[in-house]
Amino acid sequence: MQAIPSEFLEIDRKERVNRPFFDLDLRPAEERTCDFDDVVISFDPERAMVEAARCIHCPDPAPCMVACPPHNDIPSAMWLIEQGRFDEAAEIYHKTSSLAEICGRICPHEALCQGSCVLNKHNAPVLTGELETFAVDYQRRVSGYVIPLGTPTGKKVAIIGAGPAGLGCTDILIRLGHEVTIFESKPGPGGLLMYGIPNFKLPKDVWSEKWEQFKNAGVKFVPNTYIGRDKTIDGLFAEGFDAVFIGIGSEIDAKMEDTPGVDLPGVYEATDFLIRGNVEHDLLPANMRKPLELGKRVVVIGGGDTASDCLRTALRLGSEEVTCLYRRTEKEMPGGKKDRQMARDEGAKYRFLTQPVKFIAGADGKLAAVECIEMRLGEPDAKGRRKPIPVEGSNFSVACDTAVLALGYWPDPIIGDTTPDLKVHSYGLITAEKRTGTTSRPGIFSGGDCVTGPDLVVSAMVAGREAAVTIDKYLRNEA
Ligand SMILES: Cc1cc2nc3c(=O)[nH]c(=O)nc-3n(C[C@H](O)[C@H](O)[C@H](O)COP(=O)(O)OP(=O)(O)OC[C@H]3O[C@@H](n4cnc5c(N)ncnc54)[C@H](O)[C@@H]3O)c2cc1C
Repeated sequence: MQAIPSEFLEIDRKERVNRPFFDLDLRPAEERTCDFDDVVISFDPERAMVEAARCIHCPDPAPCMVACPPHNDIPSAMWLIEQGRFDEAAEIYHKTSSLAEICGRICPHEALCQGSCVLNKHNAPVLTGELETFAVDYQRRVSGYVIPLGTPTGKKVAIIGAGPAGLGCTDILIRLGHEVTIFESKPGPGGLLMYGIPNFKLPKDVWSEKWEQFKNAGVKFVPNTYIGRDKTIDGLFAEGFDAVFIGIGSEIDAKMEDTPGVDLPGVYEATDFLIRGNVEHDLLPANMRKPLELGKRVVVIGGGDTASDCLRTALRLGSEEVTCLYRRTEKEMPGGKKDRQMARDEGAKYRFLTQPVKFIAGADGKLAAVECIEMRLGEPDAKGRRKPIPVEGSNFSVACDTAVLALGYWPDPIIGDTTPDLKVHSYGLITAEKRTGTTSRPGIFSGGDCVTGPDLVVSAMVAGREAAVTIDKYLRNEA
């Protein structure tokens, strides 16, 4: 429900519909490819107030609020921002979101809140994502934000994985008074916020400032601990934890195992490439500390958002010719148009209907070219996407010294393999109820990408928050 009901607002909707729209300001492509800083130029207070005042305050429930996975009360936040009441607007977001400054930056807003804004019919949508970022950044940096803690219950919960799902779950549990310890296989917290999503989309200082709030709230963090190998879930119960939440994501890169030459020096998996290209040395996992050996000509294989992130990272690392190879046409590409356009503006090229079939070594034994075959589109597959079919005899080669495989992700089966009676499916995804995170084992809950497969930060965060509500009931013997 909206905190500030629209019927009490005295506004002239018709006049608001026609207010001028100014799109987000981006740093020029030639400037932003020289560094890893944020691409978007943040709003200042005046710009934020003007933009928020374009909201026409639809009746409750407003379409933007319905389309937002955590159902942020966007109209009330717009009203408060319009009046310069930025801290109060930030509090509105904190009520429903554990990662507002992050979702404000990297949610696909054009498919969610902004996509459903009724102003789309007449003008351009209110830039709700950037306004969320502005309000929460403002509060954090000017006034400060402290996560309010509940009265201690004496119950202890282990969270496995410090990504958005684990953090959403942690946020709610500590507000309800439970003690939380996060076990994480990597040296630092954040999951893909830290070890995947590049800095130019999500600056690392934004994430570390957010993490400070969890640390200040007393959340315990145990790094470099791979559950399933270093400890088991039953071991955690034996240590005295009352419940366990699994939020381990779906982070194993899909491979091209049968493609000759895939092991050549110069061929990287997307995760390895993005982590080594974007994370500072001290926070790199031990097996990723060797610097990337990046050539001037890079090909990225795949068509999703990860491919766009790899193309844009390669350009920032100094590569001169950066090309995406994709086996279908642009129409079938799963990645967002906005990121693809930014990649193009920054200099990335696209080659469609192209399937790599062999990685070819040069005289030095390193990657020198990728042999490809042309594809054509056949009938739609089970998901309705037209199937790519090789055109016989159409082989050609693309010279390159680096290839990055951005082909998608699989779940890590280790938790299912080492936890008796925990049901899993589809190569290791954990079977858990939507909205509650309940698994086949009492006391064990799960949510995020390890349940759904690769999805979004916001959906993982919501799943973690919802599971926390069920965990609370379980701990109070109400479930
Ligand atoms: C390159 C890339 C770019 C993306 N860009 C966007 C974007 O712009 N917007 C968006 O909304 N989404 C984006 N996503 C998707 C988004 O990052 C994920 O959907 C989200 O992070 C999932 O959250 P999670 O908590 O389920 O998993 P993760 O973020 O993957 O976190 C899981 C954590 O568990 C840890 N872990 C794994 N196994 C174990 C174990 N056995 N023991 C202990 N710890 C373990 C991992 O190290 C990790 O820290 C992107 C994904 C990728 C790969």
